[in-house]
This record gives sequence, C-alpha cells and structure tokens, in this order.
Amino acid sequence: MSTTPPESPAPGVLGVAVPTPLRRLFDYRPCQPAPSRGWQPGLRVRVPLGKREVVGVVVECRDTSDFPLDQLKPVVAWLDSEPLPEDWLWLCRFTARYYQHSLGDTLHQAMPVLLRQGRPLEARIRERWQLTASGRDIDLARLGRARRQVELLELLRQHPRGVVSSVIGAQGFTRAQLRALADKGLIDCHEEPLTAAPAPSHGGLLAEPSLSLNREQATALAEMHEGLDRYHPCLLHGVTGSGKTEVYLQLIEAVVARNRQALVLVPEIGLTPQTLARFRRRFRVSVVALHSGLSDAERLDAWEAARAGRAPIVIGTRSALFTPLARPGAIIVDEEHDGSFKQQDSLRYHARDLAIARAHRHGIPIVLGSATPSLESLLQARAGNYRHLRLTRRPSHHAPARLELTDLRGRPRQGGMIPPTIDAIRQALAAGNQVLVFINRRGFAPTLACHACGWLAECDHCDARLTLHRQPPQLTCHHCERQRGLPDACPECGSADLRPLGTGTERSEETLAALFPEVPVHRIDRDSTRRKDALENTLAEIRRGEPCLLVGTQMIAKGHHLPHVALVVVVNADAGLYASDFRALEHSAQLLVQVAGRAGRAERPGRVLVQTLHPDDPHLRLLAESGYDALAETLLEERRLAALPPYRFMALLRLESPREADATALAGEAAGQLRQWLGERALAVDCLGPVPAPMERRQNRYHVQLMLSAAKRGPLHEACAWLTAWLERAPGARRARWALDVDPQTL
Ligand code: ADP
Ligand code: ZN
Ligand code: ZN
Repeated sequence: MSTTPPESPAPGVLGVAVPTPLRRLFDYRPCQPAPSRGWQPGLRVRVPLGKREVVGVVVECRDTSDFPLDQLKPVVAWLDSEPLPEDWLWLCRFTARYYQHSLGDTLHQAMPVLLRQGRPLEARIRERWQLTASGRDIDLARLGRARRQVELLELLRQHPRGVVSSVIGAQGFTRAQLRALADKGLIDCHEEPLTAAPAPSHGGLLAEPSLSLNREQATALAEMHEGLDRYHPCLLHGVTGSGKTEVYLQLIEAVVARNRQALVLVPEIGLTPQTLARFRRRFRVSVVALHSGLSDAERLDAWEAARAGRAPIVIGTRSALFTPLARPGAIIVDEEHDGSFKQQDSLRYHARDLAIARAHRHGIPIVLGSATPSLESLLQARAGNYRHLRLTRRPSHHAPARLELTDLRGRPRQGGMIPPTIDAIRQALAAGNQVLVFINRRGFAPTLACHACGWLAECDHCDARLTLHRQPPQLTCHHCERQRGLPDACPECGSADLRPLGTGTERSEETLAALFPEVPVHRIDRDSTRRKDALENTLAEIRRGEPCLLVGTQMIAKGHHLPHVALVVVVNADAGLYASDFRALEHSAQLLVQVAGRAGRAERPGRVLVQTLHPDDPHLRLLAESGYDALAETLLEERRLAALPPYRFMALLRLESPREADATALAGEAAGQLRQWLGERALAVDCLGPVPAPMERRQNRYHVQLMLSAAKRGPLHEACAWLTAWLERAPGARRARWALDVDPQTL
C-alpha cells in the first residue's frame, strides 16, 4: 500500500474501502479543501455509491486509476483530520485478507455504529467543578444573602475531588449560580472525558489486595511475567475454580503497572455483572466494559477511551477484539474454547485466532485460558508454540466432581429423569442443598407427535421439527423463529391423540415443581430471561443459598458461580455422541465438563449424574473415568488419523438459494472451475462436494456446501482467494447467495 506523507502534493486518486461485499477498493477524486493534515490512509470519507452516500475509509492515496480520472466522482467530505488508529487498520486488513472478506465491510463491522454513520471520533466531555484555594478558605458568612451560592459551596466542600455539572444540576443549582461563584474566583472547572477519566494519581493501582497464589498459580504467573515484552502465547489450562481468573488479575496488574493496556475477551454468556464486579473491585483504574447493554454513544466513548489510552483495562465479548489500543500490553481470552468467539454469519472471524495474530503483531503476551481447551490450542501447546501452563488444584482443595453415568435404557422417566436421579435430587434437597438440572433444550418438548399415525410437527420452511412451548402455548421453529398455534387434532389423520415427544426445560420445570412442591424451581433459558434483569434477579435469589431447583440450558452452565449447588443432573448427554459434525464430540465434552464444574464450588463436594442411553460409549466413558484431558488426547489422535482439523485446515463455501437447483448448479460450476485451477497449479488442496448442508432447507432456502481442505494454510488461502474472485465475476453467481467460512467451527 502506498502512503502519502502529509507534506507531499495532494494525490489525484483516493482508493476507498466502502461497505459493500465486493472485494475491491473504489476510486474517488479528493475534494476541496483537503483535510488539515493532508490526505492519508485511514481517514473516513463520505462518498457517493450508486444512489446512496456511504462512509468509507481511505486505503490508498495514488495518482493513477484503472478508470479515466475525469470519470471519477469526488469525495463528498472528509470526516477525520487524523487517520483511524494504525493498529486497528492493520487488524482489519489482516482480518479481511485471512477470511477473504471485503475490506470495506470488515472496516465497517469493526467500527462502532456511530463511526459508521460518520460521527466524529472524539471523547464526550463533562465538566467537573472544584473549590479554588480561596473557595476553601472563605468564610461563608461573607457571601451574604446569596443562599444558593452558599449551599453550592457547601456541597463542593463535601467533595474535595469535585462534582460533575450534571450532578450539580440535578441538585437544583443553576449555571448562573456556578458562574457567579466562578467570577468571584471561589470555584473553577476542569473538563474531563465522560468515559475512563484518568485515575486518581494517589492510592496506587489496587483497590483490594491480590490473593497470595498457590504454587501452580505462582509458576504460571512467573512464566507470564517473564514474557511481558514479547509475543508470548500461553495456554492456561486449569480446572474450573482452579484460580485462572486470579492469575489474569495479577497479570493485568503487572501490565497496568507498566502503563500498558490489557484487553480481556470473554464468552458471550460470560460478561456478567459478577465478572465485571470482580475486575472493578480489584483495580482503582477504570475497567471499560463493552457489553450489549451499552448505547451507541457509550460504545463510541469506550472505543475512544481505549484508542486514546485512557482505558487501562478493556473487557468485552467477541467484537471487543476490534478495540484499538494506544499502548497494548497483553490480551487474555477466557474460556478460549467457547463457540461464541466465532462469528457465524457475514464476517466469519474467530476472535481467539485474531487475538493471537494481534498479540504477535504487537509483540505482547497472550493468555488463552480454559478448563477444557480446544483441540487447536492443545495441539499448539503440544507442538511447543504455546507455553502449556497447568492448574490442577482448586484453592478450596475440593477436586471437581466426577461424572457418574446412569443408564436411561428401559427405565420409566418423569420429565426426562429416571427414579434414581429423582431420589438423588430428593436427598440433596433434604440436606439443604441446591440442585441444578441441565437440559440443553428449551421449550416444553422437542416436538409434538400423533400417537395414532406417527405424524410429527415440522416447520414448513426448514428441515426441522417444531418445538412445543407451553408458556405461552405454541409450536416454534428454533431455526427460523416461525410460530404456529397448537392443533386440536392431527393434520394427517384427524386423531386427537397428540402428545409431546421428549423433554425440554419447561417440561422438566413442570415435573420438578410437581415432585418437589416444597422448594422453588427456577428455570433459566433464553425464554425465561428475555425480560431485562430477569436473569440477574433469579441469580441473586439463588445466591441467597436456600434449597432450590435450577433447570437450565447452557445459559446457566457457563460462567456463573453457583456455590450452593451440590448436585448437577445432566438429563441427556447423548446429543453430541453420534452427530455428523466432527467437532460435536469435543464441544459436548466441553459443555459437560463446564456443567459439572458448577457442582461443589465452595465447601461442599459435588455430585454429577449424567443420564445416557449409551453408558458404554467409549468416549463418554473415557470422559467420565479419566477426564477431559484424556478424552482430548484420544480425539486428537482420531483427528490426526482422519486428517481433520487441527491437523488439516479447512474452508467451507456455503451457498444458498430459494431454488435448490440454483444453489447446486453454482456450487457445481465453482467446484469444477476450482478443481481445474488447482490441477493447473498443482496445489495440494482437496475440494469436496458440492454436498447438501446438514440442514438442507432453512427458512425456505436451500443450503449447499463445498469443502476445501489442505495440510498447509498457504495453498488453502490461495485457493480461497481464487474462488472468491471467480464467484465475484461469475455470471451465474447472482442466482445464489454465497459466503466463505474459513476455519469453520460447525459444518
Ligand atoms: P477459575 O477462573 O479457574 O474458575 P477463580 O479464579 O474464579 O477460578 O477461583 C475460584 C475461587 O478460588 C474464587 O473464589 C477465588 O477467589 C479463589 N481463589 C483463587 N485463587 C486463590 C488463591 N491463591 N488463594 C485463595 N483463594 C483463591
Ligand atoms: Zn395422526
Ligand atoms: Zn423453521
């Protein structure tokens, strides 16, 4: 890329990345007057695009174009006088290239909404009023009858660090009163940014002392301290409750003490008020959180504070990876195996993988933490590319609970649970404990069935069953969200013998409420927590520690500390055992371990009952008897033998169309052309397909895919680049929507 130093003459052409799916720059002529510091890559501009005006980013300043210069349209206006942060531009370019996505759309998605709309990138300011020396000393009687001015001075005397103007206004004081006191030299005001005001200079970094680490934690931290000035990737592999977070906190302390910034990425469900509170309790400096509850203005403030370096600690979910940092010091990815780090539509990036690239570019340490690391990260650790740091013990000295497999076959079930399970629940409640029943299906039952003819309620638009809900009563498709009322009779045979098939959270809740009327039953899933604060209120209730039953999906299994839970019941462990997706087993083992980790976190040892139809399944037995690490070894070996990731690299071309023939035809043509090109260049890339996607019809669209795989990333990426370029030009490509998924997490 050519860069133009500000002194050089104005370029004739600006190559601008605009928010379109097209993988190329659009050329414009500069407008008059030029930005005060000249045209430079990284400036946002408003440009005409078709009939619209859009916000784009200047990427190249040059003097030539493939188009006649006099046909180029001029930029409408520039929006920044200084370029967007260099590290952020680098990250966006890297992301666009790696995922074969349009740079314009990548930049667009990586910036806060208000920047996309053209708002200036600047901190919002507030005023803080303080007493001057004479304001501190003056005898209030000398202010005479200006009663409100006296009261205002009294207010400020109570707050030696000043009071912000909004608070002063809220107490009924007027600007005239402020100005009157300021004119007398008794008070003055400072402007400060709204978000992440500079920390008070006194009092040190920590607001509470850090814990003294056990041997394993201390070893891990020492290893991290040793690599603070270079790219130093660590896999912090520690069982749930082994004190990983404490290690993060102490690493962050070291980073901030060197006046650098720490970026912490957590899974979608993990950014809870408790997590935030834990970080905020520890540090006196501000902890900027990027969560879904922020307004667009607050998000821009947080981004600006990070860019300007005022935010020493930034914590957020997947998209926080794109936060610019003025002085990057370390990146932490908690629960690095979590699926929410991969974006599943549009720009299909993996925040953990990009975090690694970013740490490498900055030359800073990165910590990937997990109780159940991804096979990708385990392989990197095994190959010596990541330091493998283990925490095997909990500070509480209670080993994590073992999984006890219980055989579902041939036993009567109530709400999905067999009699021994129900007995165990009864005992745990009688002993004054809480019980968590985990069931990864929301709704009342996975579907509705006719017992006369075998009809099953299916979605008209997807190859999927409709889920039966009772609160409120309806049939819902969990893939397209379409809803239908409950039929009175079977649409096929007219029989009224319609019954729910299988068990979801609502049904377990109902059964448990009937079996144990003496304790409350809390259901925690996407439906029960739609209302704002519903989840927090329920969790607060649960933390009081009274005996109760919790029924929930993975929403409860992840991230929450539930110290009073002594028994965890997994209603059905079989979902991932025989799935077609090669990662299903890894993901369901991670989830099971995470659920099990909820039991016995505090003083009491826990029990985990895992119901299964396959108690002899070798993978499940290995997990139960030897734990996740042993299973992971086996899975890695299986992946190696089957030539699957992480031993091989994959990309998936996903195509969809309302007409099956259109998607298949385009996929077939793309496959043919790609194979020919690969053959000519003798590139070692396999191209499999086209094949129907695992759920072929979704929202009345047909999904087909083409799978590319290779032993080396280089050739795979060459092939992906060629394929996307071909698809952009292919005349038939309009008939189907297509997207490339590099390193797909699900097939
Ligand atoms: P993880 O992040 O691995 O789940 P945490 O850091 O949350 O583990 O630690 C689990 C519990 O143990 C927390 O209550 C934490 O305060 C406590 N803990 C962690 N490290 C120590 C330590 N060195 N000494 C005492 N308690 C600790
Ligand atoms: Zn029927
Ligand atoms: Zn549907």
